[in-house]
Amino acid sequence: MSATTQNVYARIPAVDKVLVALDSRELPPLPIPLVTDVVRTAVDLLRAEVKEGAEAVPEFDAFVDGVAGEIDALYRSRIHPVINGTGVCIHTNLGRSPLGGDVVASMLDVGRFYNNIELDLDSGERGKRGGFLEKCLANLVGAEAATVSNNCAAALILILKHLGNGERNEVIISRGELVEIGGGFRVPEIMEASGAKLVEVGATNKTSLEDYAQAIGPRTGMLLKVHRSNFWMGGFTDEPTTEELVTLGHEHDLPVVEDLGSGAMISTESLAPIPHEPTAAEVLQRGVDLVCVSGDKLFGGPQAGIIAGKANLVAGIKKEPFFRALRCDKLILTGLQETVLAYLRNPAGEKPDLPLIRMLSATVEDDLRPRAEAILAQLKPIAELQSGTVESIARCGGGTMPKAEIPSLALDLAPQSMSVTKLAARLRVRDLPVMGYVAENRFRVDLRTVFPEQDAKLVENLLAIF
Ligand SMILES: *Cc1c(COP(=O)(O)O)cnc(C)c1O
Repeated sequence: MSATTQNVYARIPAVDKVLVALDSRELPPLPIPLVTDVVRTAVDLLRAEVKEGAEAVPEFDAFVDGVAGEIDALYRSRIHPVINGTGVCIHTNLGRSPLGGDVVASMLDVGRFYNNIELDLDSGERGKRGGFLEKCLANLVGAEAATVSNNCAAALILILKHLGNGERNEVIISRGELVEIGGGFRVPEIMEASGAKLVEVGATNKTSLEDYAQAIGPRTGMLLKVHRSNFWMGGFTDEPTTEELVTLGHEHDLPVVEDLGSGAMISTESLAPIPHEPTAAEVLQRGVDLVCVSGDKLFGGPQAGIIAGKANLVAGIKKEPFFRALRCDKLILTGLQETVLAYLRNPAGEKPDLPLIRMLSATVEDDLRPRAEAILAQLKPIAELQSGTVESIARCGGGTMPKAEIPSLALDLAPQSMSVTKLAARLRVRDLPVMGYVAENRFRVDLRTVFPEQDAKLVENLLAIF
């Protein structure tokens, strides 16, 4: 070891010295073991760099600065609230659907105390987990029965485990529906993972009823239809209607299942000037035996998979060993229960009082513009920030309704003393971070997805930065 290398080694700070130095800094409330871990990792990294031949190490103070920055970053990475100014209502990176106040309150109540989740209060005996919720869901979608699982991906696995199994494990699906939903959820991979054998029919753009009919054999377990929720096909395309598929399936005594995903329960066109998204109730009316949808997309509830349809199939799914592994926790069941009650409390056609539904149905002139004007009035004193509004386009998001463009309104911010990307970065590291988007060299915050009660905090963040 050369003399210089030895010198460099000697200058690697000791973990406890760094910890002492950090004591005098203003650090976020991160538990000591995590802070120690950050320091130790930084020191180890420096030692490894020296071993690799690095000939200089940072000054002690600079090193402590760096570690303090990492501690801040680690603290920021914990799950905490964010202001969503992206205009994407169901933003998968931002937790998909926000939950209603009553929904969260019910979860809080059930979570803090004991509850009757598996107790029949009348008999005092063990009760059915989520029995009331299942009744409510079945009622909402007009099904004989319903149940829930961890998410829609799990729902599809359970359905495949039950109907695409053993001697009859072949599941027929159109090549036009072998889609990737996002987050690594690929329909063909999920199917294979569940043990079902995929029988692909048709071509990407065209599948006929005859294609399905020809593929049916003694090993066929079910016909599967997957809703193309996150993309659309146009041009030279064709596929049988759900009704035709149902007739074919039932002629062969085969169940027909639709993975609908998006989870709209009421007419989307009644919320905003957007297309109609098929609802679970409509799909069931067309005769499918089972439908599955997500809980945290257009339904507007917590993460879950809702399975609804024929009573005997739902009962069979609940007996699958995997059902136990993919079931929902008491908080989720309670949140779902309160969400579905919000729908059932509203007669057909009326909007349930849920944040996602309110967000989608807000209007530019009555709801968004007055808020924008109030915000702009408060931003006016900031000389280094040019601010105005711009018409924008909000989206449903979460891999739903890719063609739906919701007219919206955004704050249009042009910082004079820093770049827009710098402003975006500064806003992301606030205690209540703000996510907007950059377009035309402006920083924009779509007000449709910002909760009105967060407007003041948004202003506060901007005032603090400038
Ligand atoms: C989103 C989606 C899924 C996956 O739902 P998760 O609840 O995220 O598991 C499955 N199928 C379709 C058609 C979807 O749109």
